Amino acid sequence: MEVQFTEEVAQLRLAAGATFHGEGILAITKALLQSGVSYVGGYQGAPVSHLLDVMVQAKPYMDELGVHVEACANEASAAAMLGASLHYPVRGAVTWKSIVGTNVAADALSNLASPGVLGGTLIVSGEDYGEGASVIQERTQAFAMKSTLLLLDPRPDLQRMVDMVEHGFAMSEASNMPAVLQLRIRACHVRGSFVCRDNIAPAISSRHPLAEPSAFDYGKLAHPPVIYAQEKRKVEHRIPAAQRYIVAHGLNELFDGEHTPVGLIVQGGLYNSLQRALQRLGLADAFGTAQIPMLVLNVTYPLVPAQVVDFCAPRQAVLVLEEGMPEYIEKDISVALRRAGVATALHGKDLIDAQGEYNVEVLARGLINFLDRHLPGSVPQAARAWLAGNAQRRADVARALGTPLPPRPPNFCVGCPERPVFSALKLAQAAVGPVHVAADIGCHAFATFEPFSSGHSILGYGMSLASRAGVSPLMQRRVLSIMGDGGFWHNGLLTGVQSALFNGDDAVLLIMKNGYTSATGTQDIISTPDDAVKASAVDKQQSLVHKNQTIEATLEGLGVQWLRSVDNYDVAAMRRTLEDAFTSDFTGLKVIIAEGECQLERQRRIKPWIAGLLKRGERVQRVKYGVDEDVCTGDHACIRLSGCPTLTLKDNPDPLKVDPVATVIDGCVGCGLCGANAHAATLCPSFYRAEAIRNPTWFERLMDGLRGTVRRAIQAA
Ligand code: SF4
Ligand code: SF4
Repeated sequence: MEVQFTEEVAQLRLAAGATFHGEGILAITKALLQSGVSYVGGYQGAPVSHLLDVMVQAKPYMDELGVHVEACANEASAAAMLGASLHYPVRGAVTWKSIVGTNVAADALSNLASPGVLGGTLIVSGEDYGEGASVIQERTQAFAMKSTLLLLDPRPDLQRMVDMVEHGFAMSEASNMPAVLQLRIRACHVRGSFVCRDNIAPAISSRHPLAEPSAFDYGKLAHPPVIYAQEKRKVEHRIPAAQRYIVAHGLNELFDGEHTPVGLIVQGGLYNSLQRALQRLGLADAFGTAQIPMLVLNVTYPLVPAQVVDFCAPRQAVLVLEEGMPEYIEKDISVALRRAGVATALHGKDLIDAQGEYNVEVLARGLINFLDRHLPGSVPQAARAWLAGNAQRRADVARALGTPLPPRPPNFCVGCPERPVFSALKLAQAAVGPVHVAADIGCHAFATFEPFSSGHSILGYGMSLASRAGVSPLMQRRVLSIMGDGGFWHNGLLTGVQSALFNGDDAVLLIMKNGYTSATGTQDIISTPDDAVKASAVDKQQSLVHKNQTIEATLEGLGVQWLRSVDNYDVAAMRRTLEDAFTSDFTGLKVIIAEGECQLERQRRIKPWIAGLLKRGERVQRVKYGVDEDVCTGDHACIRLSGCPTLTLKDNPDPLKVDPVATVIDGCVGCGLCGANAHAATLCPSFYRAEAIRNPTWFERLMDGLRGTVRRAIQAA
């Protein structure tokens, strides 16, 4: 990856007493070091990629401390890494995106949680839920409950978040339960400060390794018969130990308020939004002092029934604010109150939206429903006007526009190497007929939006080939599976390729070999061209992914017999190869490697290089594409075949024509797709390719002068 985290790495070194300023996720990263972790691993994904990215770039400092950092192949391997803390008194942390990552990690998590850990373990899970989410809307709470994991959901305040990391390890050791620290998107990006403590170099580490392995202990395995004792221990020892720790260290917070007949129980992660909602309703000040008493659950599993009962019993009514469905926490609280014979009215999903992110407006509506019933008159009319004003503004905008605004779905980057593949697929389907496309997680999933609208299903990261196993035999035409190189290494090689080969499936797999796990932040993978290759490349502007043949060698080693590598930007060649794969007499697995370096990463790589050339006064040649407006017929077939954001429309300069013409605006990176599409689809000849030369040679200046003279002469004639 070309992005440098120099400042972030420097922040990790801050000593005791220094003040850290920055984002929540980096504060968590620093807190891991303050907690004395011996090892850190994970699989990147929004919103927690930053943790692992920074750790990987901080390797020299991690080596100083003796902290081992592992960029794991997937979340399952990250969860399995926590096995180090089963036998040894070492702290370890891993990170991934939930819910998808937790799904992948589930097997290892269950096998870890059953015997329980000796050293503290912490999973920093990015709760990718609500506005801005990119995955299925489910919650981690269910996993914590079913596997008996501690679930920390800290109030989004940097000091509190850092404290909860340190408590998370200690509580994990006190209860032998692995801990999960869930961070919502907003918590990862919340900015603030905290006073640092020194980082702790772990006693057992890569600098101070253990002399001997621990003695054999069958009780550390998750096999019968010990699984029965482990299950009993969860209930009788571990959960009570965690509950004692929560109370002893005041992990859940009680905030008083003058309206004592009512109360709110809220997940810690929702606290900031709740404060804002109360402030908008005139029930809190700008400094976080609310008029309604609150129990803030910085630990949402396990709950402490006595604490819940103590909070609820003196009140007439309590509202539980728990994001997402089902309402696990609300039901847990309900059971605690019922068992204690507490008659306090309990509300939750009956008065607030059942699903979706609890943003300030959603919370405010739920609070009004609750307070109108149990504390009438507490929400002034003027405060309600804010909600009504928002609704009115939206209605006014909709009325003024007449029609709803067109959606603006995410799109491939300008010049992305994956866009041409879908142009070629459109053309190939025009020849062979429509095919079922098993899509996957990754940048190529942008093709599910217009103008491609391609992809019948997405069943998980690296799962496209496996997901067509039931479809292929039912189709007259071959099915196409598409996955990225990130997905191939994450899961696709084993669940898809191995299975298809073993079963002799007649399948077509297209692998986008762009060199990185681009969708998660362009992290390196085993097939990324290494730094020495990038440095030694004569033409650094070219895609370099063909310099690493690990995917090809792996496929050949497994026995793939039909394997083609194609340059993505050669649309005609890609179209031919796809047609071959769909119609070939070969009935085994056919794999097409679509080669083209991620344009985002390529630009990051070449921009500093070009800036250096220009600074030294050296020659630089850049390619740009354009549309001759006099030739463009205005049918826009090129746009329907490309979708590049820099290929757009402008008014027709010909006063006799009404249709707008195509145009290429600034931002074109000269990827060549426009020309390739025009050629492969025999479109109109309106596209031109221009070479812009900075610091030209004396010969180029001479030729330019001559051409100018000839041009002027022709124009004069
Ligand atoms: S990040 Fe790379 S692979 Fe992803 S859309 Fe952008 S250019 Fe394409
Ligand atoms: S050549 Fe065409 S597709 Fe490529 S970046 Fe430029 S406008 Fe976009």
